[in-house]
Order: sequence, then structure tokens, then C-alpha cells
Amino acid sequence: ATEAYLTAIEEREKDIRAYLTITPKTALAQADAADKRRGRGEALSPLDGIPGAIKDNICTKNVRTTCASRMLENFVPPYDATVMGKLSGIAMLGKLNMDEFAMGSSTENSFYQITHNPRDLSRVPGGSSGGSAAAVAAGEAAFALGSDTGGSIRQPAAFCGVVGLKPTYGVVSRFGLIAFASSLDQIGTLTRDVRDGALLLNAIAGHDPKDATSVKREYSDFGAQIGREIRGMRVALPKEYFGEGLHPEVKEAVLAAAKKLEGQGAEIVETSMPSLEHALAAYYVISCAEASSNLARFDGVKYGFRAEGYENINELYDKSRSEGFGREVKRRILLGSFVLSAGYYDAYYKKAMQVRTLVKRDFDRILSENDLILSPVAPTAAYKIGEKIDDPLTMYMGDAYTVPVNIAGLPAVSLPCGTDGAGLPVGAQLIGKPFSEAEILRAAYVLE
Ligand code: GLN
Repeated sequence: ATEAYLTAIEEREKDIRAYLTITPKTALAQADAADKRRGRGEALSPLDGIPGAIKDNICTKNVRTTCASRMLENFVPPYDATVMGKLSGIAMLGKLNMDEFAMGSSTENSFYQITHNPRDLSRVPGGSSGGSAAAVAAGEAAFALGSDTGGSIRQPAAFCGVVGLKPTYGVVSRFGLIAFASSLDQIGTLTRDVRDGALLLNAIAGHDPKDATSVKREYSDFGAQIGREIRGMRVALPKEYFGEGLHPEVKEAVLAAAKKLEGQGAEIVETSMPSLEHALAAYYVISCAEASSNLARFDGVKYGFRAEGYENINELYDKSRSEGFGREVKRRILLGSFVLSAGYYDAYYKKAMQVRTLVKRDFDRILSENDLILSPVAPTAAYKIGEKIDDPLTMYMGDAYTVPVNIAGLPAVSLPCGTDGAGLPVGAQLIGKPFSEAEILRAAYVLE
């Protein structure tokens, strides 16, 4: 299997450009070791020897981890992220392209290359885990890990026609995930189908003493409910998710998914989420504030890129950060520093935190009366490369349906639910209560 995937990478990478680093030698050695374990009846897990690939913001010991930034061009982590330890049996094919520091929705913010959507090479794969979604969609990896701070797993999954799962905040350790916005970041899965997503989540979930926000909890098989009927399940459709801005063909495909659930005995309930219209603004305030603090560590001294030709320490910081970070990252650091600054804190950051509470309350209310929420993932299907990159605000608006989930720390899956008029994949999002991943996957399986 590993050889077949390496051949696929060789054939398709010139068109797709999903990988920043390919590690064929490691992959083949790991596959050999797994074969031997299987021969002895000692397979470590169902994923033992399965060829997968990893978003390039997850630290891999002795394998370059760039975050798609010039800042970390030559950064080789001396340690593995906790998830890599949990996946030690896999054959790792390499590291995947992304928006720089996971900031973006199209993977066009990578310092290195543009990844193309395997469904239509002229279009973006979504982002920021665009390399992860494209690699799985193109058959260049059996599965991929991504990270989701405000939709970065779910939106590229929707654009590329694969299954993306963002777990409840705290289910998967963030140790070794290069931080963007720590109160929102969560590692999750990109797979061809729902069952694979459950297998992968089984492998990576669990408490980690190295991540103080990881939850102490026993998890049973996340795939245990797959195949069970959904009769009597209450699925809420908040009307604000289907309002202005949603492309009619996307709306139609998501409503068809609701019909399908109804056909299987689920009860479709119309409801309202008044806070939805404010969630996006709150997300960009909170995530930029946290990013401005998290990215302070990249100063040209401790790691990564250091500019040349400086006279003193301040110039070293200035030049290294000016030359090492791309435009979008700088924009967010500036926004974040502004909203946290004395005199503006109450007007922006504090207000955003108040909105965060409102969003949580709305979800609590809807999910106390219902089992799941069904919504679109993004307002449109994949757009053309270059179409939105010069218009950050329009780009940000595309995140309106995904960010509320991170604000509330909830689990959600994005899965293909049809195509638009141009034949491009459309994604449906299922959102559940905290720790209800198994239930979400049960409903998702019905739509597969
Ligand atoms: N597109 C969103 C942003 O640019 C989400 C990013 C993410 O989830 N990492 O912030």
C-alpha cells in the first residue's frame, strides 16, 4: 500500500502540490516494520502500517516542520507531537501544505506553493488544511491529520469532497501543534469516509499530561454507533445558517441531506440561532488576539529565520519578523495587538468574549432540545485560485458557518452531500454536544 501511495504521489504531485516534504524512505521503513509486526501478530492498532500524511504545523521529530512559513523554513523539531506518538505505527508519507500558521481559507497563504483542488485544478482546495484535504481526495494519502481553529479541517474537506472531523476541544492533545489560537485550536482527521475518521480519532484521542487543556476522560470506540439507525434523532436546522449569502445550490444540497435524514426516521426541527451573525466578528478578534501573543516567540532568536544585516537587537527582531512572516500573518498580529491594547481592550476583546458566551448559550439551548445541528460548511463550493486572495474580508466571510463551533468548543463533521451545478462537491456540517463524536458519525454515515 505504501509503495502504491508513493507512486500516486510521484504521478500526481506536479498537478496537486499537496506536499511540502515527502518522506519515502521513512515511509517504506515504517511499512516494513509494520509488516513484520503483522507477521508476528503484533499489530499496534488498526492503523498499523497504513500510509498517511500530516499537516505541516504538527511537529514531527527529525522531519522538517515549516507551518508553511519562511519563519520555520529550516525548523527540524527535536520532538514529536503527542499525536505522532499515538500514530507511531503508521507509514508517514510526508508533511502537507497549509496556509501560513494556519491563517487562511484557501491554502494560498503558504510561503512555498499553491495547492490545487483535485476536483478541478483551477480551484483552491480550501484551507488552512488544504494540503491534507487535497492529498486524501487525490489518493495521495490514505488519511491525513489537519488542525481546525475556525474551520480549517471542515471547509477544505467540503471543497475537496472528503470527510473532515473536528473533535470536541480537549479530546486530542495539542502538544506539538504549533499554536495559532490556543483556546480554539484542535487537531482532527481528514479521511475518505466516515468509518476511517472514527478509526483515526480512536488512535489520536486521549488525555495528555503535556496539554493542560486535554480532558481526562475514557473514550469508547468512536465508530461504535456507525450503522445504527437514526430513527427518532432530532436534527435542528437554525434558520440563520440558511439565510442571505448562502449559494442556492449549496442550500439545495444541504436541504436534500436533511430530507435524507428525515427519510431514515430523524425529526427535522427548524430553530433559530440569533448569535450566529456576531460569531464571525468575535472569532476574528479572539483568534487574532491569541495569535499576536502566540507568535511573539518567533523573534529571530529562539528558532527559525533570522534576518541578516542588523545593528542591534531591536533591528534583529524587526527585520526577522518583517522578512519571516507573510502578509496575512502580519495583518493578524497587528489586529490582535490592537484589540488587546490599553484603551481598546474593553471595546473589542472583552466584547468578543461576551459574544463568545452568547454563542455558547445558543448552542447549549439548541442542543439541549435536539441531538444534532445540520448546516452548510461554507457559503459556496470551491472558488478559483486567485479569486479572493486580495480581499481578506470576503475571505473571512466564508468562515461564518464553521467558526461558531470552535468558539463553543463543540465537535463537528463535514461530509460530502452532493454537488453544485458545476459538479463541484458541497459539504454538509453536523454539529453535536461536547463528546458526542460517536453520535455525529452515526448520523454522518447515513448521509454517506
Ligand atoms: N479560515 C479561518 C482563519 O483564517 C480558520 C483557520 C483555521 O481553522 N486554522 O482563521
